[in-house]
Amino acid sequence: MRYFDAHCHLQFDAYDLDRDALIARMAEKEVGGIVVGVDRDSSIKAVALAKKHPHLFASAGIHPNDTPDERFDEAAFRELAADGKTVAIGECGLDFFRHADADDAEKARQKGLFERHIALAAETGKPLIIHARPSKGTMDAYEDALDLLRSAKREYGDRLTGDFHFFVGDTGTARKIFELDFTVSYTAVLTFTHDYDEVVRAAPLDRLLAETDAPYVAPVSRRGQRNDPLAVMDVVEAMARIRGEELDAVRRAVLDNAKRLFDLSGSPVAVP
Ligand SMILES: [Zn+2]
Repeated sequence: MRYFDAHCHLQFDAYDLDRDALIARMAEKEVGGIVVGVDRDSSIKAVALAKKHPHLFASAGIHPNDTPDERFDEAAFRELAADGKTVAIGECGLDFFRHADADDAEKARQKGLFERHIALAAETGKPLIIHARPSKGTMDAYEDALDLLRSAKREYGDRLTGDFHFFVGDTGTARKIFELDFTVSYTAVLTFTHDYDEVVRAAPLDRLLAETDAPYVAPVSRRGQRNDPLAVMDVVEAMARIRGEELDAVRRAVLDNAKRLFDLSGSPVAVP
């Protein structure tokens, strides 16, 4: 494999007409990736897809506020997490953006749900894929997530790790995430905004992952259209440009980071 998309949703309906062709093109281009669940149904689909394709992996979890009525089915998620192709727990976390007036009950609900995922990650030894989105002009969701993770590390031990997906935080927040031994990942937003250049430049190269969050956020070359995991190549290219580093060195580094975090050794995702 040459590239690895650390976060995509290939199981979504958006791919119903051409999913197999797209997955075949990923194999052709040597792009692997993690199909991320946002609730129980999509997690089941993610695991099924990963089991069918050597270059795909799965993550099982409930998005903090996409399905606000869904309760965490412990037995179902434990079974999904135990699958050999499930390499992470999530996406899970805290989203206060859509709850700007964030009432405490909603925050408490999200935190309780996040804690169930953290416990499962600790139990299975698999990393977390974290969705954290602060309310406008603040870092609140990151601060609260970091508090929960710090106390989880005290409870479960230092092995607990994971990735903050679609990172929109500042340099100071990134530093706190790295101190806790977590990574951050970026999407193709890097191809059309300079908002994150400072953090991308400041981050140690071994703390960065590339992802697409497809079908969302297509790169500038096809903005507004459906995205797909092949765009991870655009993300890595943007990272290299922003950091002023050799494309191939950045490509290998972020691939290696994914391999290490998600424990992909022994899988077909080898760093050439
Ligand atoms: Zn996602």
